[in-house]
Amino acid sequence: MHSSPTVITRFAPSPTGALHVGGARTALYNWAFARHHGGRFLLRLEDTDQARSSDPAAAAILEDLAWIGLDWDNAGSVPRQSHRLDLYNTAIDQLRQAGYTYETNGAIRFKVPNKPITFHDEVRGDVTIPAGQTENFVIRKTDGFPTYHLAVVVDDAEMGVTHVLRAQEHLSNTPKHILLQTALGLPCPTYAHFGLILNPDGSKMSKRGFGPDEPVNVRDFRQLGFFPEVLCNYLALLGWNPSNDLEKFDKDFLAANFTLDRINKSNSKFDSKKLLAFNKDAISSLEVLELLQRLREFAERYYPHYVGFSRFLTFLYYERCKTLREPFKLGAFLFLQIGRASCRERV
Ligand code: GLU
Repeated sequence: MHSSPTVITRFAPSPTGALHVGGARTALYNWAFARHHGGRFLLRLEDTDQARSSDPAAAAILEDLAWIGLDWDNAGSVPRQSHRLDLYNTAIDQLRQAGYTYETNGAIRFKVPNKPITFHDEVRGDVTIPAGQTENFVIRKTDGFPTYHLAVVVDDAEMGVTHVLRAQEHLSNTPKHILLQTALGLPCPTYAHFGLILNPDGSKMSKRGFGPDEPVNVRDFRQLGFFPEVLCNYLALLGWNPSNDLEKFDKDFLAANFTLDRINKSNSKFDSKKLLAFNKDAISSLEVLELLQRLREFAERYYPHYVGFSRFLTFLYYERCKTLREPFKLGAFLFLQIGRASCRERV
């Protein structure tokens, strides 16, 4: 095991879909915390759900993380849980031999002792889960794959993870992880659980629709023409307090100042208008040639037929647009009218 005091954090997405803004925020906080301490930020793909995981989803998540400006220290060798079954089976055998498990219908379960479980959370303080609230849980499924709980504990220890920063929805998983770590004789990382991201009406943002009309994924915001650095800045504010009423800052500022005592316990509401206002400010602060460059890159990806019009659109909408998509949406209308007019002339 790693005995050096180096801070090691990780982001462990399940490649079952696109990168949600909640996941992006988790990645950003883990990145910032590691960078703040001169430590390591690692990625891991949690693909034990064989039916729902896919390679294209994994590749898209990595691309979106890079797009928002994150870098990770195990690029080129990002572990995949589906490739590490031996590691999990060894741990399962160890638990079995020590009498911690029993088998039902082909699945292996961990016996949870009937006593309270207390652990320290850097955001919430001491958390106690009363006896009887954590049920005996599956550690190996009938398909022979480990469950998330078993794999996460084995992997965090194997990768030397010292700090686990994740959303509050995982708080109820933590006692299970601590029981497994104790039974396996593994070190317990430091935990910090932050609040969720909610819609303005208080519902969970993950329950929203998909696509540009109801954006929830990093990709949706990219397609809508938001700047990655603006999305990062806004996500950082949803759960972390930079103090002094500061609102606009970049990733380097975040890394320099990211401490756990400034993380919010409470949930945050996603305010699309505020994000839009941030993006508009970022666009108007650009030199015209920088905007042209950004519009051109955006067009190459999303409006390839209009790349040639980037210059015209930049001059037309400079200082007015809130997103990179707006000029193309408005421009498409304009081009349609011009097209119609020239057709009429020809008739
Ligand atoms: N794969 C889990 C998820 O996507 C990771 C949870 C954790 O950080 O432990 O939610």
